[in-house]
Amino acid sequence: MRLSTLRQLNLLDTPPSESFDRITRMAIKLFDLPIAAVSLTDHDRQWFKSRVGVDHWEIPRFKACCGEVADTSDFLVVPDLLQSATYQNSVLAESGVRFYAGAPLTTRDGYTLGSMCVLGHEPRQITDDERALLRDMAAMVMDQIELQHAFGRLDPVTGLPNRNQFSEDIEDMRRDQREGQWYAFHVDLFDENQIRSLQRVIGLPSFDTMAHEVADYLKQQLQYPERLYYIGGCQYLYLVTGSEADIYNTGRSLWQLVNELVLNESTPVLHTPVVGIAPFELSDAVGADIIRTAHSASEDARQAGQDVVLYSQKLDAEHRRRFSILHDFRHALESQEQLYLHFQPRLNLSTNKCHSVEALLRWQHPQLGAISPAEFIPLVESTSLVRRLTDWVLHRCIDQIKYWHRQGCPLQVAMNISGNNLNEPGFAKRILLALQAADVDTRWLELELTESAIVSHSKLAMQQLNTLRDAGVSIAIDDFGTGYNTLTYLHDLPAHVVKIDRAFVRDLDRGTRNQAIVSAMVSMAQQLGYRVVAEGVENEPSCAYLRDIGCDEIQGFWYSKPVPADECCALARRYQPGSTLVT
Ligand code: C2E
Ligand code: MG
Ligand code: MG
Repeated sequence: MRLSTLRQLNLLDTPPSESFDRITRMAIKLFDLPIAAVSLTDHDRQWFKSRVGVDHWEIPRFKACCGEVADTSDFLVVPDLLQSATYQNSVLAESGVRFYAGAPLTTRDGYTLGSMCVLGHEPRQITDDERALLRDMAAMVMDQIELQHAFGRLDPVTGLPNRNQFSEDIEDMRRDQREGQWYAFHVDLFDENQIRSLQRVIGLPSFDTMAHEVADYLKQQLQYPERLYYIGGCQYLYLVTGSEADIYNTGRSLWQLVNELVLNESTPVLHTPVVGIAPFELSDAVGADIIRTAHSASEDARQAGQDVVLYSQKLDAEHRRRFSILHDFRHALESQEQLYLHFQPRLNLSTNKCHSVEALLRWQHPQLGAISPAEFIPLVESTSLVRRLTDWVLHRCIDQIKYWHRQGCPLQVAMNISGNNLNEPGFAKRILLALQAADVDTRWLELELTESAIVSHSKLAMQQLNTLRDAGVSIAIDDFGTGYNTLTYLHDLPAHVVKIDRAFVRDLDRGTRNQAIVSAMVSMAQQLGYRVVAEGVENEPSCAYLRDIGCDEIQGFWYSKPVPADECCALARRYQPGSTLVT
């Protein structure tokens, strides 16, 4: 037990410290003796945390007086080692020590770790006052040890052990080879947005008080309060062992317990607790992984609108994939071969020719293979990397426009941009400068952005759209109809083209419902002065219908899938009305 306590306190093989040296220096002064030491007793040696007057940092434990103090937890006085049957042949006696007095170093839990001792070269007695003094010094050493231990391991707000302590406890449990299946319950009282607004409304000190109140409540209510940890925010971790059959019920009771809690009555807040459960085997457990998986389970609970969720490897794998996609995209932008563009031609229904193509980004990930833009773009769009993504696409598009023009194939290129781009100061200017630097006329570039990107139209976004439009760049509203039904404010937007989303176009050949919707969209948009492109046209009847209602252009697999740049030009030239279009 002593060994594990020494380990827990992180005392073994740590360097001697000045704070203990101060106490030993004081001891030799007060006792007027040449040697004083703080010694800790390991299983086969005695080991000094601090000493004054001893040359060796370690001496064999055999027959060491300090070893006896550690084993018996009693105060030991040996007035003359040479007169003592036990110690007369000891290493200490051989080194010339005659007098020894040692007070046990005992933790609050009652474990003795070693001794605080004073030694002399002459036989000596010890007074009651001196005994009391040495005991006080031992207590000072223990206070110091426990203080150092608590620092960084106990959360100052809640008083609960923190994640560092959790990881160490898991290590210890593994070393002690505790049996059985274990579960970590992650209790989270608020979702992230709630936390942010709470901290803002009630202030950080009140938030801390609340975290503290919850900790106190849980400590009182839980069967094993010593297995409760504080993770941060209003998140707690509770360790439970048991059978898989019971574990969900335990999770529910824990949830109920937290749900019944009445928080800080002066600032009533509505908490929305969730409990995530992570099962783990001690044999291969790592503290940080347990915290992560338990947290991931409670996030899954929150997203699914459930109270208690057991960790799912499948969901976790999805999160990890998202994380690595985001992480690896930065490298993809720097590498020469992972990203490239495909282009999807659009067919102009009045000329039966292709004048425009849409640039679509492709990513060949070295390990994960081809990743769809529908998967990685929304992730990248939520980060500042979106600026680099759009710049990357912009420069490739401009190069391509130039190249096609030189080939006698003047195609306009539509590229997708993200709503966040419009909120970057200088975005419009960057586009115009890039076009200018390449000597490409603005009318050869179209920018597609979705309704939702425009709906948040901040002042800056609107200004930049206006700047681009005034400079002659075409603006298209992508995926029209899927967002906020913007027909009502279409007339406010500085755009030229409306691209009706595939969802409405897909079933145009079947049933009249979508026909009615698309027909209304086309005529309304045209009356407001927009060109209309129908996306996702997959068959001839749909194309014929769109032609009938006067739609301006179509884009979709029927005309062409997105293709590499060199196929595009040939395809754009090849089409003649009435010929077979499917490639
Ligand atoms: P989007 O801009 O609406 O692009 C059209 C998507 O529909 C493309 O998917 C295209 O391959 C697909 N598509 C075209 N015709 C058909 C059809 O007939 N049937 C079906 N089922 N699908 C068709 P993709 O290439 O997977 O791109 C998905 C989305 O990713 C794009 O939707 C766009 O929002 C985004 N995206 C692609 N490239 C970029 C980019 O460079 N920058 C940004 N910000 N977003 C991009
Ligand atoms: Mg698009
Ligand atoms: Mg679209």
